[in-house]
Amino acid sequence: MHKPLLLTFVIVFASIAAIGSAQVPAASDPLSIGGKDAEWFAGQGGRVDTDSEPQAPFKIMGNVYYVGANNISSILVTTPQGHILLDTGTKKMTSVIFPNIVKLGFKPADIKIIMISHAHYDHMETLETIRRITGATVAALEAEVPSLVSGKDLSQNETWGHEPVQVGRILRSGDDVTLGGTTIKVIWTGGHTPGTASYVIPAQEGGRTYQIVFGGPPGPITGNPRYDTRPEDAFTSYKMLRTLNPDIVIGGHPLNAFKGKLDALVANTRPSPLALAPGQWVKMIDDSEAGYKKRLSAVAAATR
Ligand SMILES: [Zn+2]
Repeated sequence: MHKPLLLTFVIVFASIAAIGSAQVPAASDPLSIGGKDAEWFAGQGGRVDTDSEPQAPFKIMGNVYYVGANNISSILVTTPQGHILLDTGTKKMTSVIFPNIVKLGFKPADIKIIMISHAHYDHMETLETIRRITGATVAALEAEVPSLVSGKDLSQNETWGHEPVQVGRILRSGDDVTLGGTTIKVIWTGGHTPGTASYVIPAQEGGRTYQIVFGGPPGPITGNPRYDTRPEDAFTSYKMLRTLNPDIVIGGHPLNAFKGKLDALVANTRPSPLALAPGQWVKMIDDSEAGYKKRLSAVAAATR
């Protein structure tokens, strides 16, 4: 596919995004939200998005970079044969991710594969636009494909959805996605949405291989009559996550994890300010699972 000059590319992309944002339906128009919960939408529509603010990009480790906003992650894995982008963020983040990739010395046009944590608009609102412009292949877990191709949020959040996405490769838990010598392992960590994924990304630096996990404990939902997380899904995810031993974990909303560390991260300080302390990973999973169990008991007690 012919690739336009980078500048044209960014401008065209930004314009598409601008048109797109103008089309976000007004909260007063229930028809435009496809029968979803109008009250919920009104609440969300009135919410100021402070999560998509610009944030300086930095190297996480090896060939793995943070290119996202201040509180919505986007990860770039670079290889000699092109790049893998994990999560594309909100429409507002079109003015964050591509400039960040360029600042790091890479070309958005070299993105060959795009994967997502899950099909909620804040992590993938621009997925189809980026796919179309770059010609990249979207690879997604089977359970998330219905939401991606329909453009509907089929999970508990029931947001206004997204442009339907052309999925080029359907993944199963445990699959490897390889590009230019880097192999990312895909793990189903359902619970937040039916096909939420975590990714294990190996990164070489200073003669050793670090394990970076993008994703983490699933954030299961209780108390929604239309979509409750199936407890067995969440417990399977916790069990799966316990088998990992990451050096660094990046979640979808990293504001707290990055707090007070940004200067050191941008300065490429080693050891990484994001390096997990011994036992921290297991504690993260334990805390999330304990919180979920507590909410399950509360729901059970309320319905008794
Ligand atoms: Zn979500």
